[in-house]
Amino acid sequence: MSDLMQVVAIDGPSGGGKSTVSRGLASKLGFTYLDTGAMYRAVAFACRDQQIKPSDERELKQLLQELVIELLPAVNGASDVQVVVNGKEVGRHLRTPEMGMLASQVSAIPAVRAHLTQLQQDMGKSGKIVAEGRDTGTVVYPRAAWKFFLDAKPEIRMRRRADQLRSQGAEVNEQDLLAQIIQRDRDDSKRAVAPLKQATDAVYIDSSDKSAEEVISLMYERILHSGCPL
Ligand code: C5P
Repeated sequence: MSDLMQVVAIDGPSGGGKSTVSRGLASKLGFTYLDTGAMYRAVAFACRDQQIKPSDERELKQLLQELVIELLPAVNGASDVQVVVNGKEVGRHLRTPEMGMLASQVSAIPAVRAHLTQLQQDMGKSGKIVAEGRDTGTVVYPRAAWKFFLDAKPEIRMRRRADQLRSQGAEVNEQDLLAQIIQRDRDDSKRAVAPLKQATDAVYIDSSDKSAEEVISLMYERILHSGCPL
């Protein structure tokens, strides 16, 4: 293990099943689940809430200085973590496709990435976390002992996201949702800072024809037989 961190880094495009799999794997390993996307969504929410244009560097930096983001375990059988921004629980406002697009925009801003990357590295210092995002294996925890890149066909990712949104009572236009997913992946992959890409030492998994349980078992087995102590 030596200089490797006891961190599982799971990256990939939106709707690949990262959240369900990361949460399940964390619980199986007894690790803490870290949803880094929720942090980018929290910044996007705060910008909208405080009517700050992300392009206004001075105001954005001020917002980041004052921003307190807390990620708390899900309650009452909910699947997503609770997100508390400056003392207010705002989780339900964060999970919309619109907030995903806004999060993607703010996530391309170097000051935002530097700020959240530092927070995530502090959170991961003592190890035993499963982190999911776009750059956890490449930038945030390059020394993570276990890295995975979780992918699926765009249509399948759209369907999963649509099911999730409908289960929360939202109306879904599938064509619009697919277009948004493809656009967001393109933006995330093409940005200059910490783009979405597979780490060279990550294991690629296509979840298109696999259940979340199958993916969790696959990862768990690889971790057990990796030679890195748990
Ligand atoms: O994972 P989730 O869909 O919640 O992420 C929302 C957006 O936050 C992504 O589209 C991406 O632009 C950004 N993000 C990121 N780096 C991460 C996690 C999320 O840039 N580690």
